[in-house]
Amino acid sequence: MKTIYLDYAAATPMDAKVTAAMQPYFSQKFHNPSSIYLAGRAANRALEDARGSIAQNLGAKPAEIIFTAGATEANNLAIQGVMKDFPECEVLVSTIEHESVLAPAAIFNYHMVPVDSKGRVDLQKLETMVSDKTVLVSIGLVNNEIGTVQAMPDISKILNKLRKLRGSKGRPLYLHSDCAQAPNYFDLHVSRLGVDLLTINGGKIYGPKQSGALYIRAGVQLQPLILGGGQESNLRSGTENVAGAAGLATALSLAQKKRSDEAKRMAKLRQQFIAGLEKNIPVAIVNGSAKHSAPHIVSVTFPDVDNERLMMELDERGIQVATGSACSASSDEPSHVLSAIGLSDKTAHSTLRFSFGRATSEADIAQTLRILRELTS
Ligand code: PLP
Repeated sequence: MKTIYLDYAAATPMDAKVTAAMQPYFSQKFHNPSSIYLAGRAANRALEDARGSIAQNLGAKPAEIIFTAGATEANNLAIQGVMKDFPECEVLVSTIEHESVLAPAAIFNYHMVPVDSKGRVDLQKLETMVSDKTVLVSIGLVNNEIGTVQAMPDISKILNKLRKLRGSKGRPLYLHSDCAQAPNYFDLHVSRLGVDLLTINGGKIYGPKQSGALYIRAGVQLQPLILGGGQESNLRSGTENVAGAAGLATALSLAQKKRSDEAKRMAKLRQQFIAGLEKNIPVAIVNGSAKHSAPHIVSVTFPDVDNERLMMELDERGIQVATGSACSASSDEPSHVLSAIGLSDKTAHSTLRFSFGRATSEADIAQTLRILRELTS
């Protein structure tokens, strides 16, 4: 039986070019980048090459890139790092952020900006919710459960306007965006997005898990979360993961090179899937935004069907999908994202996430539709 993997939003297989780029740094070039003999300096050069390549892909300067162990850590560094200096102030997050944004925000004074039924942030509400005490707004570019894409440049414009009103002596007002789900399909140029902080994650872009980076615009002040030897400009101590950095840089370059072709191909697959659902399973409801969606994520409600059971039955037939985000899969709580867009607990428990990637073909979609029809009729 052929396996059809439709959970690319949870994990992606490593690209062979990424594996090759990492390989030398495990045993042959294993040296510590802080060592000052020749081999150590070579390891440091590899680390800085990776940083330079990531910076170039984001339209940033190398010094603005801090390596982390994945997106969870980058999001924590962005939020806790900024807020530690302003404990009396506030952070705003949208109601559909990933747990790795919500949980650190909840340590501080925080407010949640609502989204509409398609998962788009209410921009007017956002503007009214920014108070004199707000120093950070964190809104992800692509939602990992329903695929909705936010109008980041518009959000940035609103914050710019409010920032100007504060004047140069006022508190800062930073915009952070968790872009973990975005690099395979979207331009991540930081000045076009208008962000001050941006998270990327190797594990979602055909790179290594536990590799990631935080872009921190020059001038943004942060406190470190991990103290020690002072690596990564004192913001993330610990011997650097050279292999991980090389893997992340290669994965990001490949993702950005492929993104426009892959976005087109994925949009076609998405269309095929949604049209097939409408035809074969007309009761099925596609969640999220038809107009502002990442091309690789489709959230579908199958009314009165138990999502865990359907997921297991699909698994038995070789099709791997998710009931929600992989990190909350073990919890019985309905997804906070689906609740935020207005789904009842019962409806949320009838919802599956299908996410496509580089190996997904039209034949895979057709086969998935056939099996879904059998299992739900
Ligand atoms: N942010 C988003 C949008 C994600 O989809 C994920 C992973 O599912 C993360 C953050 C966390 O990534 P990691 O678990 O690799 O740190």
